[in-house]
Amino acid sequence: MTKMITLRVDQSFLADLKRGYPLILKEAVVNTDMLREEGELIRLVDRANRYLATGYYGNQNKGIGWVLTTKEHEEIDGAFFKTKLKTALDHRADFFEDSQTTAFRVFNGEGDGIGGLTIDYFDGYYMVSWYSDGIYSFKQYIYDALAELVEFKAIYEKKRFDTKGQYIEQDDFVMGEPGDFPIIIKENGMNFAVNLNDGAMTGIFLDQRDVRRTIRDYYAEDTNMLNTFSYTGAFSVAAALGGAKETTSVDLAKRSLAKTIEQFSVNGIDYEAQNIKVMDVFDYFKYAVRHNMKYDLVVLDPPSFARSKKMTFSTAKDYPKLLMDAISITEKNGIIVASTNNASFGMKKFKTFIDKAFKDSNTRYKIVEQSSLPKDFRANRDFPEFNYLKVVFIKKLNK
Ligand code: SAH
Repeated sequence: MTKMITLRVDQSFLADLKRGYPLILKEAVVNTDMLREEGELIRLVDRANRYLATGYYGNQNKGIGWVLTTKEHEEIDGAFFKTKLKTALDHRADFFEDSQTTAFRVFNGEGDGIGGLTIDYFDGYYMVSWYSDGIYSFKQYIYDALAELVEFKAIYEKKRFDTKGQYIEQDDFVMGEPGDFPIIIKENGMNFAVNLNDGAMTGIFLDQRDVRRTIRDYYAEDTNMLNTFSYTGAFSVAAALGGAKETTSVDLAKRSLAKTIEQFSVNGIDYEAQNIKVMDVFDYFKYAVRHNMKYDLVVLDPPSFARSKKMTFSTAKDYPKLLMDAISITEKNGIIVASTNNASFGMKKFKTFIDKAFKDSNTRYKIVEQSSLPKDFRANRDFPEFNYLKVVFIKKLNK
């Protein structure tokens, strides 16, 4: 059995822990100096030495590990991981049956009972992401369980923790028959090219599935659409398929051009009829204002933090400014889709950013739709930090 370290929880964190807060925060534990090696099991006790929970040691952002069970005598072994995985797979039964959507999340970290581990499904391929050395030390259990429970073409993995301060470029293949990438997955009937063995990202962010569908089905028709921080242009594809007259995709990364052309092409859309700009979004706003360009539909989906040559952008600080730029180039009655995946603030705070931006622009608005994580991204709704995605559709009412 793996070694077990007993850690005492600070009184002020007891209540949250008892309510099911799964992350073991560094400051929640009194004697962290006991910890030696990531992957060792942690027995959490209160100051009277009463048992609270069992977890594992793995460094990840603010946490030193995750709670795995609150049953004192539950063994953390192969059977434990298999049960968690089986339950998670059962929750996605509808997805496995849906021929129009062939990519989704099958295991969502703490939402499925094991923080630090996610597993995504891409049309027969599985992508396992490991977020700490600690959880990675259990990999044999998890791969054995996965291989027993599902049929797969191949399994790939990404180690999203750093050994020496950077993402390790690696061959991500684990087992099975290596794929011929890109593969084409389906999402509500749309096609997306995906590559599981090409750096940190796959080409599609699965957590925005519902938003892409909403854009295609309800907001795109006859619009002139602007997609900022567009990455591979997935929102532009959704808009074009929903009948947008024209789309413009803007991203700083050089690779975004070829990737966006690819996403249009696999959907039979003539990419030459669309605009794809490799440039800084903030420069594009200035350019659009100078040329009096306006859009009916503007998507804002920035990374939580971004650094370019000229500036740093943080959603927690700069979102109102970003919105003001967007407001200035949106038509009257146009829609702004404001999205953020920043876990450090919730929906309420996000709406104060929206309100501030419209007030400072002397413009009236109406929130017409909002959404968060899709069903396959299971999350504990009691703690908003794990329910990180916030998307608000805002109608600009005047000017
Ligand atoms: N909206 C995308 C995902 C965005 S990921 C989707 O739905 O798939 C964030 C993207 O922002 C990255 O592709 C990155 O290259 C881009 N980015 C970061 N800073 C930028 C800036 N200042 N201007 C333009 N793009 C930027």
